[in-house]
Amino acid sequence: MAYDDGNIFAKILRGEIPCQKLYEDEFVLAFPDIRPQAPIHVLVVPKGKYVSIADFGAKASPEEITGFWRAVSHVARQLGVEESGYRLICNAGPDSHQEVPHFHAHILGGRALGHLLA
Ligand code: IMP
Repeated sequence: MAYDDGNIFAKILRGEIPCQKLYEDEFVLAFPDIRPQAPIHVLVVPKGKYVSIADFGAKASPEEITGFWRAVSHVARQLGVEESGYRLICNAGPDSHQEVPHFHAHILGGRALGHLLA
């Protein structure tokens, strides 16, 4: 799938739609999910234009990949869930209900999460 510059995260990254910036560096922007599924629900979005994790893995530079995952763990620490624990989710494609076609990770925490059965 070709990258669509009109997706909502592209607009947020360009500053066309506001977000509450929780963390930003050269590789990522992190902000709360607008429809939180847990007391802590934060999205970590790479600044590069990647539709999916497969696209990210295939096309991003080693620096971008390292920077992204370092930022994810940094944000989790900043959110105070490193000790209590958290879940990372990267939806990919229709069966996962990926809604926004710009690769991102969800950080979910702040309560005991259910087992992953579905
Ligand atoms: P996906 O299903 O993994 O693509 O997740 C996309 C997430 O983006 C969903 O959990 C939405 O609630 C969230 N979302 C959509 N629009 C916005 C927004 O404008 N700000 C913050 N989160 C958003």
